[in-house]
Amino acid sequence: MAAQVIDGRKLATEVKNQVRTAVEAAFGRGRRRPALAVVKVGDNPASEVYVRNKRKACEEVGIRSVAHDLPHSTSEIALLSLIEELNCDPEIDGILVQLPLPDQILSTAIIEKIDPAKDVDGFHPYNVGRLVQRIPLIRPCTPYGVIRLLESIGAPLKGQHAVVIGASNIVGRPMSLELLLMGATTTVCHRFTTDLRSHVTRADILIVAAGKPGLVPGEWIKPGAVVIDVGMNRLDSGKLVGDVQFEQARERAGWITPVPGGVGPMTVAMLMHNTLEAFHRRHQLGH
Ligand code: NAD
Repeated sequence: MAAQVIDGRKLATEVKNQVRTAVEAAFGRGRRRPALAVVKVGDNPASEVYVRNKRKACEEVGIRSVAHDLPHSTSEIALLSLIEELNCDPEIDGILVQLPLPDQILSTAIIEKIDPAKDVDGFHPYNVGRLVQRIPLIRPCTPYGVIRLLESIGAPLKGQHAVVIGASNIVGRPMSLELLLMGATTTVCHRFTTDLRSHVTRADILIVAAGKPGLVPGEWIKPGAVVIDVGMNRLDSGKLVGDVQFEQARERAGWITPVPGGVGPMTVAMLMHNTLEAFHRRHQLGH
């Protein structure tokens, strides 16, 4: 029987509606709106789309988005000083720096400069470290969104064998930490993994985030498995596809996310959620 398709757009709308209700409630009590600084350097076409989607989501939920569009030639020092300014600005709750950055800027230096309390992407070593230690505070948006998708379908995670393909700082690695936190027995595969197939065929939960179209053939999927495809690849034809061969995988999986319309919308929704949480925390702390 064909897998049930997980509707990421629907869940993302629910999350954003919850954020909007909370934002309006706080505003009704006389608070200012939460504010997210969205920093873009250069004009990478993919980044343009992501930034546009994030700004649009802010509008939908009533979060004030503050645009900082910098030229491609921006120096690391100039960007660090903008971050410092935003860190000190009491009117800003979250800082998002769209990656990748131009070659002259070391992204790790920029991420480390962001005040962890405003690090709504959840990439700062402090926030990642909290996830490592099982005391998460601000959680990286994409893996957190995947967990919400898994929860929405009632997928059991405790004791299940989860396989993550990809070990990047922004997706694969924190994804594996989230799955460990949920009690899944977690295997992480990456570009040096030999015999990827043997791992995939044993996965009850398969999360693929490699950025390689067609990396996972449908016949590798364990019957009934939950398949979450994080990959977003633009083919020469202009078509957007994931890393999993969707049609074939759908014949074997129990649940599967589409691309587009799966993980992507959840990433943006969780960014809105994180910004609201950062706003609440600042107010609780009396900032
Ligand atoms: P990345 O290039 O930083 O990391 C890719 C990872 O995949 C690496 O750990 C690498 O070792 C592994 N990998 C590459 N080839 C492999 C192979 N043949 N076998 C096994 N592992 C392999 O990429 P990223 O930033 O983690 O993004 C991964 C994908 O997810 C991309 O397609 C990206 O566009 C997409 N993405 C989607 C969202 C979303 O919201 N849907 C968010 C972030 C990233």
